[in-house]
This record gives sequence, structure tokens and C-alpha cells, in this order.
Amino acid sequence: MAGHVIAVTGGKGGVGKSTTTINLGVSLRMDDYSVALVDADVEMPNLAEMLDVESKQTIHDVLSGSASTRDALVEVGPGFGVIPGDSGLSSYGDTEPERLNQVVDTLAGAFDYVLLDTGAGLSYDDLFPIGLADEIVLVSSPDSAAVENAKRTQAFVQRLNRRIRGVVITMAEGPVDDSLGDRFGSEILAVIPEDPAIRECTSTGRPLEIVAPDSPAAKGFRELEAELTDGTLPPKRRTPEDDSSADGDEAESPDGDSATREAETEPDPTGQDPDRKKPKKPGLVARLARLVS
Ligand code: ADP
Ligand code: MG
Repeated sequence: MAGHVIAVTGGKGGVGKSTTTINLGVSLRMDDYSVALVDADVEMPNLAEMLDVESKQTIHDVLSGSASTRDALVEVGPGFGVIPGDSGLSSYGDTEPERLNQVVDTLAGAFDYVLLDTGAGLSYDDLFPIGLADEIVLVSSPDSAAVENAKRTQAFVQRLNRRIRGVVITMAEGPVDDSLGDRFGSEILAVIPEDPAIRECTSTGRPLEIVAPDSPAAKGFRELEAELTDGTLPPKRRTPEDDSSADGDEAESPDGDSATREAETEPDPTGQDPDRKKPKKPGLVARLARLVS
């Protein structure tokens, strides 16, 4: 069966969308689901930095047609992949968001969950990933400007006829009033407190589940994961054998060969492929491997 695709979005930059994407991904993996994260914020990509991974090929190469999904997929740990972005400005101009369609199809054929980290705003680049998701998680801090911006995004999501699963309130400095959920007309899935440990994670690339597993913020992300998986998704855990039947990626590889050849077939969520690009710094791999094994 196909994996479930969730877009993590919100109207404002800096409210914790990427942080939510990463930590939801870690929680899902700890619950034994295979997970792929995609940096679908092509204007301001930062998953690579936040996860401390490096890849020669990025989502920008895939979206410009010069690499396949598999070329850009970094195995952060067994069953945990990420397609990072390129923060260099030159790569942005050549991207065609429509190519993300194939990326999502390919990943959903191989992973239980595909999480799309999106940009803030209402541009075509920002909204396109939302259109590919099975459901949307809105992220906002409690302050009015962030809430109003998130509501604007929400209105567009509704126009796209996508399902909003609920709202994550991040950087909460105290209890969150129920009226916030009413303002969105959507369920509040989780509240993530303001927590200095998260900033440490962002700057060091270390997962919150390692830095501060007992923190209220880590608990909040586990609650979010529980809300999202509660009896609804996916009915059957995937096995590596399931993945062998998945479709390949049609993007061109850098040397111009068609991706339909054997080397361009599905990524292996077990992370056993020796040709797969590995992050340069093995520290995170080891840490996450330990975390999810
Ligand atoms: P976005 O993707 O929405 O732009 P990020 O996830 O990149 O936002 O977060 C922006 C900054 O805020 C990062 O430095 C991150 O460490 C910090 N941050 C996010 N969530 C929290 C939180 N709950 N507590 C403290 N800092 C946070
Ligand atoms: Mg971000």
C-alpha cells in the first residue's frame, strides 16, 4: 500500500514547521513506521542544516530534473530518509515544483510516512506541496500574527480541497486557551512549549529525543504522533519485500540516463543499499540508528 503523505505548513516563517517535521518524523520512526522527510521549502530550505546531513544532490537537483529521487535521498538511519534542500541561491531558479509529484509518488511507494516540510507563504512554490498531501498539519505559535497568517494558509488549503488534520501550537510560553482551536475551527493536535533544548537541537543537529527525551516538548511531539496515527494509518506495516514492487522514479540521473534502469528503482527503507549517499558526519546516523532500532 502507499505511504501516507503529510504536509507540515503554516503562514509564518520561524514558527516551528521544520522542527515539527523533524520531530514528528523521529516519533513516527520510534513507533516503527518508516519515514521520509522532504525539504519542500525550496526558497528557504533548512532541513539539511537542522539534521546535520550533507548530500551532493538535493531536492533542488531533483526539481530541476538533473537528479532522481533516489540520488538525493539520504539515509539518516534505517527506515529514516531525508531529501534535503540546497541553500545556495543559484539552484532555486531552475526548479519546477510539479516534479515534486513524482518524488512523492516514489517515496510513498517505499515509506509508511512522507512528511513534506513546506515554506511559509502563499506562493505557488509554497502551496504546490500542500496539493500533494493526503492531509495537512498547520503549525502556528500562539501570537496573533502567526495565527492570522496560519489562518490565511488554512483558507487556501481548504480551497485546494485538502484535508486539514489539525493544528500544532508551538513555542507556547504557558497554557494554551481553548479559544485558539475555535479560531482555527480545527482540532489542536498538540501543544509544544517554548523549550531551549529545541534551539540546541537546531544548532547541533542532534535529535530532541536524545538531547531532552523527558522534556515537555519531546512529549508534545510524541502526543502529536499518537494523535496522527491513532487507529487510522497505515493499516499494515510495510516490509522491505513490499517495496520491491513499487514504481521507479522517472527523473533523469545526472549522467543523463533514464531513471527506469535498475539503479534508479525504489529506495530501500532498510538503508542497506551500499551505494546510497551517506551523510558526511556519521554521528547523527549512529544516534538515530540507536534511537530507532
Ligand atoms: P519554520 O520552519 O517555521 O521557519 P523552524 O522549525 O525552523 O521554523 O524554527 C525556527 C527557530 O525556532 C529554530 O531556531 C528553532 O530551533 C526554534 N524553535 C522551534 N520550535 C521551538 C520551541 N518549541 N521552543 C524553542 N525554540 C523553538
Ligand atoms: Mg522551515
